[in-house]
Amino acid sequence: MAQYDVIVIGAGPGGYVAAIRCAQLGLKTACVEGRETLGGTCLNVGCIPSKALLHATHQLHEAEHNFATMGLKGKSPSVDWDQMKAYKSDVVGQNTKGIEFLFKKNKIDWLKGWGSIPAAGQVKVGDEVHEAKNIIIASGSEPSSIPGVEIDENIVVSSTGALDLKKIPKKLAVIGAGVIGLELGSVYARLGSEVQVIEFLDVITPGMDTEVQRNFQKILKKQGMTFTMGAAVQKVETTKTKAKLTYKLRKDDSEHTIDADTVLVATGRKPFTDGLGLEALGVEISPRGQIKTDNQWRTNVPGIYAIGDAIDGPMLAHKAEDEGMAAAEVIAGKHGHVNYDVIPGVIYTAPEVASVGKTEAQLKEEGVAYKVGKFSFMGNARAKAVFQGDGFVKLLADKETDRVLGCHIIGPGAGDLIHEICVGMEFGASAEDIALTCHAHPTFSEAVREAALACGDGAIHM
Ligand code: FAD
Repeated sequence: MAQYDVIVIGAGPGGYVAAIRCAQLGLKTACVEGRETLGGTCLNVGCIPSKALLHATHQLHEAEHNFATMGLKGKSPSVDWDQMKAYKSDVVGQNTKGIEFLFKKNKIDWLKGWGSIPAAGQVKVGDEVHEAKNIIIASGSEPSSIPGVEIDENIVVSSTGALDLKKIPKKLAVIGAGVIGLELGSVYARLGSEVQVIEFLDVITPGMDTEVQRNFQKILKKQGMTFTMGAAVQKVETTKTKAKLTYKLRKDDSEHTIDADTVLVATGRKPFTDGLGLEALGVEISPRGQIKTDNQWRTNVPGIYAIGDAIDGPMLAHKAEDEGMAAAEVIAGKHGHVNYDVIPGVIYTAPEVASVGKTEAQLKEEGVAYKVGKFSFMGNARAKAVFQGDGFVKLLADKETDRVLGCHIIGPGAGDLIHEICVGMEFGASAEDIALTCHAHPTFSEAVREAALACGDGAIHM
């Protein structure tokens, strides 16, 4: 029987990062993973393959819409879907192999198979029981559906099936206007599918800044996606090759049907904890299926920790990674810390959407007096040069102290721009601190500085 200081269950961004940090801190570490490859949802069927397809189809969009304007003439590229999927798989393979290399480098044992916890201090993989002073559960999440809609990963697909469709659908119905639905919807819209998004609420990307939501939906409509809002999907019926989707409009209860070649169910994800034996162990689970932890990622059972999508909080890879590092540090007797107030959220469409901190709606609800500094990418020379003048940076700062409280960006490189604000918020920066920082010209980042200037005496280029 092998003995470890730490066994991590699950090798997604939460688990593999926790394992690496444990090993770096001198703990004898193993990581259990049931998949054929390391990297979890994120590397195999999430963040990375979706970004590969977003990149490829963005190039196609540029060729079709902007090349001729720049004097790049000639035949537009045609789509070889199988080759595009091969490129995507290659990107995934490079990344999952990279984690294997890091495991070897850090002398982490990969225990291949599905793990369970027969008792605190023990992890069973196959027939073997391994001993561990500490166990970190990083078992992640799985797609969830809604009543009346059964995912078959053929006609009715989750994000996993949508990343690997046999052919590009003529008509794609997307249930849910959240991040995953819109990212994958825009991939297929760029590939020529007719994409119809059906959303229960009256807004897309719930929880985001209202102005960003409106602007984003307008841009996606311009790109050819259509939206049916306030619609409750009742059922999806399938034949061998088609789907018929029935929904009711919430405003008048009227029933409608649409036909589609493929239906993408993007109604969220739920924690995956099957087969771990948590109930028998007495590990507390919330009504939403999340493993309950304290602020040091400890469950109620001594020696068992949990992180990532399997616990409360935003289901994001970087949140899981931060918790992985922090939990490892707690186990090693150090001070693990995650600042949940400064976790950026990004949508990798074109343009990108990014936000961190509070929205105006939240500040109003909390009764915090704030000011808004806004700057449109239309006033940013670099954005205009690359056909990305749509969108804006909106910075929110405390009315009295000028401290940055939140930032919401829709525009080119938003997913990278947001980190300037994250660092600023971690250091307790004021809008003036950002405004007084010299930003290189011509960059998209200048729009962030201009928004900060707009919190004070005014932006220059507006
Ligand atoms: P996971 O990545 O889900 O990993 C858990 C691993 O544990 C899995 O590999 C599973 O096989 C394994 N496991 C579970 N139980 C056992 C067991 N009993 N024994 C052995 N192994 C087990 N997030 C972002 O931040 N940015 C993005 O751009 C982004 N894009 C996404 C796109 C899509 C299409 C999807 C579906 C998700 C996306 N996410 C994104 C979310 C992100 O993938 C998750 O938040 C992240 O993977 C969570 O990490 P985790 O380590 O908690 O769990």
